[in-house]
Amino acid sequence: MSTRTVTILGSTGSIGVSTLDLFARSGAPVDIFALTAGRNVERLAEQALAWRPRIAVIQDESLLARLRDRLAGSGIEAAAGDAAVREAADMGAQWVMSAIVGAAGLAPTMAAALRGSIIALANKESLVCCGPALLEAAKAAGGGVIPVDSEHSAIFQVLQPDCLHRVSRLILTASGGPFRTWTMAQMAHATPEQAIAHPNWSMGAKISVDSATMMNKGLEMVEASYLFATPAERIDVVIHPQSVIHSMVEYSDGSTLAQMGPPDMKAPIACAWAWPDRLPWPAEPLDLPKIGQLTFEAPDAARFPTIDLARAALRAGGAAPAAMNAANEVAVAAFLDRKIGFLDIAPLVSETLDRMNGARDLSASTGGDALDVAMMVDASARRVAVEALARRQRLQ
Ligand code: NAD
Ligand code: MG
Repeated sequence: MSTRTVTILGSTGSIGVSTLDLFARSGAPVDIFALTAGRNVERLAEQALAWRPRIAVIQDESLLARLRDRLAGSGIEAAAGDAAVREAADMGAQWVMSAIVGAAGLAPTMAAALRGSIIALANKESLVCCGPALLEAAKAAGGGVIPVDSEHSAIFQVLQPDCLHRVSRLILTASGGPFRTWTMAQMAHATPEQAIAHPNWSMGAKISVDSATMMNKGLEMVEASYLFATPAERIDVVIHPQSVIHSMVEYSDGSTLAQMGPPDMKAPIACAWAWPDRLPWPAEPLDLPKIGQLTFEAPDAARFPTIDLARAALRAGGAAPAAMNAANEVAVAAFLDRKIGFLDIAPLVSETLDRMNGARDLSASTGGDALDVAMMVDASARRVAVEALARRQRLQ
């Protein structure tokens, strides 16, 4: 493979670090254009000095002076702010890793899509908020979106392009998170530390809490529906605590294809880098005798109502998934700040969706407009969720 220009949005996070680590271990031929981060200026500066991008961008403008200071004399440009992150995405790198957390990733990811970059998409929230328009923009500009979320990477790898009309079901696997076997009474007292301690995967705080509530699987259902043009009725979730099978596709002849691997995000990142080729790197092999057993369970909708919430938002269509995502971001942040309990997260999202039931009418437009609509819905759902949160706190 010849050298490709690369931009990493969210380079200091769990996925961003794994991406650079994969590049280092595989010796993949990369020419880094831009690295961007939210607030972790020290790690961003270290990465920039090691990888020599043209530009390093910190979203938090108060940290620009520090970034300039750290990069002084290196010839690497330093910039800050939301617009600078978006501009970095818009530089036309051939391959863009979209790994900002939350809806904050939407505008930069759309900028890269409109530029025709190949987008390795980890930032699932951007698909949930604006999936159809994002995918259409990428296609129209001559680029494309390759999923990095492990479940969607699995489905992407086992989907036979000539047999899409013969797919009967997509089956998303879920580890079940740290509270898989907990009772409601135990979950009522779950702390942020316990929610973040995922049994199999090492991830950022927000997605770790989403895994604990299983909203992660809800977001992934919406993501799968858009990526693979499949309605909610034909997407199922199965709990698979070993996280060895990353997801499955069931075909109409009774055959089900699964993709397997150790729980390491470098594998789906490698897939998104090299597709349709395979990247040679010293990946940990799957030791099946050591794993011994693969087990499966149905999810418990009573303890984990978020999957049904997401299914309902997907069926409602329009902007409902964007509103759900925004409310979830507010609720997760409040839980991490110890303002609400773990079991308040799902009801807060549900209440916000009920109050926002006009929002779906907003999303008739497409293309650039769809981004504005999604961002408007995101902002108003956040306002509604913050009000609902304040009401809850007054009642406590
Ligand atoms: P993380 O919190 O570890 O990293 C997030 C990155 O985004 C950091 O570089 C941070 O500085 C940056 N960032 C945060 N807020 C920002 C803002 N407002 N503007 C610009 N940059 C900002 O998160 P992560 O675990 O790496 O996850 C990143 C994305 O990938 C999420 O959407 C997550 O759902 C998805 N994902 C992650 C994993 C995983 O294993 N970590 C797996 C599948 C999907
Ligand atoms: Mg996933």
